[in-house]
Formats: sequence, C-alpha cells, structure tokens
Amino acid sequence: MKPMNNEKILIVEDERKISDILKSYLEREGFGIKIAETGREALRLIKDRFDLIILDLRLPDMEGEEVCRSIRGISDVPIIMLTAKSSEDERVKGLGIGADDYVIKPFSPRELVARVKAHLRRTQKGDKKILSFNEGVLIIDTTSMEVRKRKEPVSLTTTEFKILLSLAERPGAVLNRLQLMNMVQGYDFEGYDRVIDAHIKNIRHKIEDNIQKPVFIKTIYGAGYKFIGVPD
Ligand code: CA
Repeated sequence: MKPMNNEKILIVEDERKISDILKSYLEREGFGIKIAETGREALRLIKDRFDLIILDLRLPDMEGEEVCRSIRGISDVPIIMLTAKSSEDERVKGLGIGADDYVIKPFSPRELVARVKAHLRRTQKGDKKILSFNEGVLIIDTTSMEVRKRKEPVSLTTTEFKILLSLAERPGAVLNRLQLMNMVQGYDFEGYDRVIDAHIKNIRHKIEDNIQKPVFIKTIYGAGYKFIGVPD
C-alpha cells in the first residue's frame, strides 16, 4: 500500500469519465481528491486549501480561463490546465493568466500524474537564504518563497518563482529555455520554449519597472535568458 501523503488536489472537470479516471490514478498515489463539475463549484471549493488544481478549460458555466484568473486573485497554488484547444496561442494565453502548465486532451493519465508530482515536488534544495539585488530593490527569500520589490510583496506563481530563482542564483549566466524547463519542472515537452517565454513575460511585468528595459532578466537572442541584477 502506498503511504498517504496529505496533499490535496482539486479536479475541475465536467466530464465524469475523465475526472473519474484521474481520481482513481491520483488516489492510488495517495492524494486526497475533490472534484468540481462547474467553475462556480470550483471557486466555492478553493476556499479550502488545495496543494494543486487540475482545471479543464471547457466548463459548462464559465470559461476555464475565467476560473483560473479568479483563483489567481486569491492563491498561488499550482494550476495544470486541461485543454482540447489545439492552437498554441490559446494554450500560451492560459499560461499568461497564471496557469503553471497545460496538458492537451486526450492525455495519458500516467503522464498527468507525473506532471502533478513534478509540480508538487519540493525543489528547494540546499541552503535557505535571502537573495538581494540592485541595492535591495529585489529581494528573494528562498525559505518563505517570497519576493519583494522595493519592499512591496510581489505575487508570483510557484513556477514563476522557480524560474526567477533559477536565474537569480546564477547571475550573469545564460540559461537556455530547455535548461530552465528542466530546472523548474524536471521534464520538457513540445512547445516548452513558448511556455518559458510566457512565464518570463509574466515575471517581468511583476518585477521590472520598464519591461522594454529590463534590469533583472535580459533576453539573449538565440540563446536564452540571463539574470543581470547586481547582487548586494
Ligand atoms: Ca469539459
């Protein structure tokens, strides 16, 4: 028997066939599962604490994007979107509103379980520390996973935090998109480069004063990204 791991997952999906399969796979791994069949039900349920949310984009009462945005208004819980949408732009739009990852239907339950675990895995290895850049303008606290810009808290999703930390721990080094993807999620998949770009864009909006003239994350064309903040 697998040990219980107290982590709770909310599945937001109106198709019973899909949510039942996911539930049985995830329960076998020891997760506690709740299912919401509508967006409204999901928004009511998230007042309880969940460790991760699996969110279908096509719901009977609301757009999944709208649900995602509402969740992000109150929580930075990891969100994996289920999408049947084949256009990459639409998927990347989902990441733009704060989802951490997406899986395209039809998907293999085994793969989804692997992604769930990757998102839940505690990746904060090594020393707990506080990183400070540009004379205290940007502070990254690796223990509390908090980021502050000029002392004001910055709300980053878990994935955004991991990307920022991966870069900030290596000031001056160029990291390519594949390296970043592997650092934050431990795997890559088709289209990961657009995913990384979408997350970087979100991070910049939150930590840069002028996203046209970034002072923290610089794009190195044809190569990747470089953290250019000056360590204090
Ligand atoms: Ca659906």
